[in-house]
Amino acid sequence: MNSPKLFLTRSLKSLASLVKTRTGLPSPIVGGAVNIVAYHRVVADIAKAEREAIRGLVVSTETFRRHCELLQTAFEVVSLETAAPFLDGTRRVKRPLAVITFDDGYLDFYEVAFPILNELGLPAVNFLPTNFMGGGKILAHDRIFWLVKLAAEKRISIRAALEKAGIENAAKISGKRDSLAVCDALVHLPNARREKVISELERKIGESAFEYPREYQLLDWEQIGEMQGKGIDFGFHTANHVVLPLEDDAALETEIFAGKSELERRLNRKVVAFAYPNGAYNARIKNAVAKAGFEIAVTTERKINLPVKSDLLALGRISLCEESTRGLKGVYSPKVAALRLGV
Ligand SMILES: [Zn+2]
Repeated sequence: MNSPKLFLTRSLKSLASLVKTRTGLPSPIVGGAVNIVAYHRVVADIAKAEREAIRGLVVSTETFRRHCELLQTAFEVVSLETAAPFLDGTRRVKRPLAVITFDDGYLDFYEVAFPILNELGLPAVNFLPTNFMGGGKILAHDRIFWLVKLAAEKRISIRAALEKAGIENAAKISGKRDSLAVCDALVHLPNARREKVISELERKIGESAFEYPREYQLLDWEQIGEMQGKGIDFGFHTANHVVLPLEDDAALETEIFAGKSELERRLNRKVVAFAYPNGAYNARIKNAVAKAGFEIAVTTERKINLPVKSDLLALGRISLCEESTRGLKGVYSPKVAALRLGV
């Protein structure tokens, strides 16, 4: 039988290892660093969202509010553009800074997250894939997730559809048991191939008509315009949310250069911040981003952004979802949250 003390020691040890594996960061974050956090969607019904969407993309309203309040206690929460001169050493950090970022421009940013940010007086930036805004289109990763989920539920094999779309390792991918792993493999494809996969899957599964969930919807330009100037900035996230290193130079013209101009025209202002879709970049992509005139670019690498030494075109971020700050009991844990957010 375990003594209470032994049990406690073990619990603390497992908590420590849980936090270590989930954060990958030492804690607390060293003084003077800029802590950039990354979200996708904030949802009212987390149980539903975790069933119907990629889990790593959703956080509940309550947890998001707690995160914001926690960040406010330990950091000065500033916009990304305000943080830039501290990151390149032009200005010295007095109080640790935090930046709240969102990717993909989901509709619930307007409906759920923005009112909370507004109430707490916190700035944030949302990185937009321009071609998807306002047109009722749904992002590839959500479509793929939904199609793979439906196929699994209806016990429909997706192998033939993948083969038809020209996927070489169709058997291996379709044989994976974990739907998220299948989804991940199909998202990380060149965009033209990925679209082919989606239309083949839609055809296969669409035999019994289906609709994508409303929660996959994105912002329209009117909502974006309303939030602009109310503490919300908008950055660029390519035209079509492509995995940039998989695209050739001609595609970069559309995805980076033309897309940036389109966003600037829509926002009627210069856009200097960029987020690499899926965090994917290399030297060629970074050069293109710099050439297009971006001054700040964020990745999904879990690294601490130190003043002076930070590469402004490859800044690290802490990606957060509901799962990130759950404790051993499977519910929100203030201790895990403090460690995860570097407080
Ligand atoms: Zn994205």
